[in-house]
Amino acid sequence: MSEKRMIPLASPVFNGNEKQYVLDCIDSTWISSGGKYVQAFERQFADYCGTQYAISCANGTVALHLALEALGIGPGDEVIVPTLTYIASANAVTYCGATPVFVDAEPETWNIDPDGIEAKINGRTKAIIAVHLYGHPVDMDAVQFIAAEHNLYVIEDAAEAHGAEYKNQRVGSIGDVACFSFFGNKMITTGEGGMITTNNDALQQKIVLLRGQGMDPENKYWFPVIGYNYRMTNMQAAIGLGQLENMEWHIQCRREVATAYQEQLSSLMHVIDLPVEQTWARHAYWMYTILLKPSVAISRDELIRRLKDDGIETRPVFYPMHILPPYKESAQYATADDIASRGLNLPSHARLTPGDIKAISESIAYHLND
Ligand SMILES: *Cc1c(COP(=O)(O)O)cnc(C)c1O
Repeated sequence: MSEKRMIPLASPVFNGNEKQYVLDCIDSTWISSGGKYVQAFERQFADYCGTQYAISCANGTVALHLALEALGIGPGDEVIVPTLTYIASANAVTYCGATPVFVDAEPETWNIDPDGIEAKINGRTKAIIAVHLYGHPVDMDAVQFIAAEHNLYVIEDAAEAHGAEYKNQRVGSIGDVACFSFFGNKMITTGEGGMITTNNDALQQKIVLLRGQGMDPENKYWFPVIGYNYRMTNMQAAIGLGQLENMEWHIQCRREVATAYQEQLSSLMHVIDLPVEQTWARHAYWMYTILLKPSVAISRDELIRRLKDDGIETRPVFYPMHILPPYKESAQYATADDIASRGLNLPSHARLTPGDIKAISESIAYHLND
């Protein structure tokens, strides 16, 4: 049997200064968390998002943990989280000793349904995590309005949405604080890595303190609080800076991929639902995601298997939090359950060619029409 070329779900592209900057780290011996690339990456990321501060860290999960802890979220507190997300959004709340309280998705963007938030708020609620799922921004005005009414913090989980915009404002600059991931399959990558953006001075200082083991910046090796070692290395930041310099190219490639899918798949709208981009949104299209119509003869999982046989890697939409063992509830979340049962992520990355997208689309058409 010949080895067939797989079209991968995700693939990073390093076509800028990444390699040169990493070599510079090694040549200069600045490979740990000191060094100029950490500062440069933070500065340029803040500028890109339009925020005063960007604080780098080890990954997107600890970015969330630092943001929540710096906001003072702790035992006994509750934080509103969409049930349809990656588990890190909920786990970070748990790491603080607080409890994630889940809200259903809304059917068009699949993001947290603002209409479902208020019913979950009580005296213990401290914050709302708005996850820009698969790159589509959350309806932030609706979330911010509820947060203001109830005196809650808003944390943007922008791990999947670098460069997405809500009403012409970059994600990461809208809530009290925002978190990004640079894992290998994200919009841009540092291997493992994360970033926190904010305009709040006190919060920035608290986050830097907690990230660096809790060490007093004015008095080295004096630790007024218990912190963490959640720092990013100079080598990761060097890769990140190289990626960030081409950020608009990365997002443009994904948007072109989405346009090409839209064109190729529009004739299949009797069997699939295509993702929506709201008029107020610039979708980053981290993962181009389709839903199988309930009337389709084969299951979503069967389609994934058949596409794999055709050399196409896809992935089911995230399992909602409320069905996973750590967060299991008997309650139903109708929209999230529906999306999770019918959705699959198609290959979405800057290396995809028009020929790849045509082949993927033809394969989907073939399996859904037989
Ligand atoms: C990837 C991701 C994270 C966590 O990022 P890591 O860098 O993998 O720790 C958090 N939230 C969401 C929505 C993500 O997709």
